[in-house]
Amino acid sequence: MQSELLELAAELVAYQSISPEQDGSIDFIENYLTELNFSTIRLDQNDTANLIAQIGNTGPVFAFAGHVDVVPIGELSKWFFDPFTLTFKDGSLYGRGIADMKGAIASFLIASKKFLQEKPNFPGSIMFLITSDEEASGIDGTPVIVKYLQEQKIKIDYCLLGEPTSVNNLGDMVKIGRRGSLNARIEINGVQGHIAYPRLLQNPIHLFAPALLQLSTLEFDRGNEHFPATELQFSNLNAGLGVTNVVPGKLTATFNIRYNNMQTVEALQKKVIAILEQNNLKYNISWSNSAVPFFTGKKFLVKTVEESIQEVLNKSAVLATDGGTSDGRFLVDVCDELVEFGLTNKYIHHINENIPSGDLLSLSETYFTILSKIFRQ
Ligand SMILES: [Zn+2]
Repeated sequence: MQSELLELAAELVAYQSISPEQDGSIDFIENYLTELNFSTIRLDQNDTANLIAQIGNTGPVFAFAGHVDVVPIGELSKWFFDPFTLTFKDGSLYGRGIADMKGAIASFLIASKKFLQEKPNFPGSIMFLITSDEEASGIDGTPVIVKYLQEQKIKIDYCLLGEPTSVNNLGDMVKIGRRGSLNARIEINGVQGHIAYPRLLQNPIHLFAPALLQLSTLEFDRGNEHFPATELQFSNLNAGLGVTNVVPGKLTATFNIRYNNMQTVEALQKKVIAILEQNNLKYNISWSNSAVPFFTGKKFLVKTVEESIQEVLNKSAVLATDGGTSDGRFLVDVCDELVEFGLTNKYIHHINENIPSGDLLSLSETYFTILSKIFRQ
């Protein structure tokens, strides 16, 4: 299987699927799965291609989920090799998207092919949920797949998202949840005036300073067994007209709150607003929640993935919930249990993205073992 796996990974890397373009990669995956007797549905929307494929029509339903799109290559001259030609050098495989996450998709395909050859009459269904927009806006990607599954009342028992969750070595970390992400923009209003006449003005920078300190040191919670503490970080602070003798009339600031499963958006908003009110500020605030937190719990899928990693890779995976958001935030609406597990993330989005070459086969073997355990009876 190794040479076929490498060929498949090389084929996928060769498509210049810079988000949200699929450049033929989703068509290729669709054809590959059709040859394995999967039925397929395309849910392309605007620039984005979306594929649902399924084999089997009974439960339990297990889904491999992922994305074919990659981030731009950056400066071409800094790449050791052509970014769209999978290249082996000194024990590593180089190529844009090999880690995030075309290597995982090739491993999904080979693991499924091997499993279906061994167990053509397995008790259940395997699905593929593949999009070409995870790295860009994501709007026309996984949410479209999720909406379709909801309309069709299709529920997935176990969902494995192949994001590169490993840190130093393959299998050292899997994600069993993710934090939520709430953005806010505040506008503090004062009165503009000549800096030499402070009694005639209200300086919004001075007015906001105590609230800035309180907000930036606010303890929302201390986290729990599975999640780190909720954290607020300011990302922008703007005030001033660019001259030295005028106090501005307005200050604007943006911040983000990465929050755990002990919080709700309403509770977070209430705490922030209480501080603004205490400080008697004249403010406007707007919110946008870009992800709700999810947590799968240490149920059957997590245990199965842990056991498989132990068996194939001889590692005890750390079960984590930190890091950025992922399409898991959408998939949890149709998946009972969801785990993210894939290649090492050391060089994702970097120039010269690469993985240790042996990891590809090891990942595909681990995915195969997961399938065998899920459909064990
Ligand atoms: Zn990714």
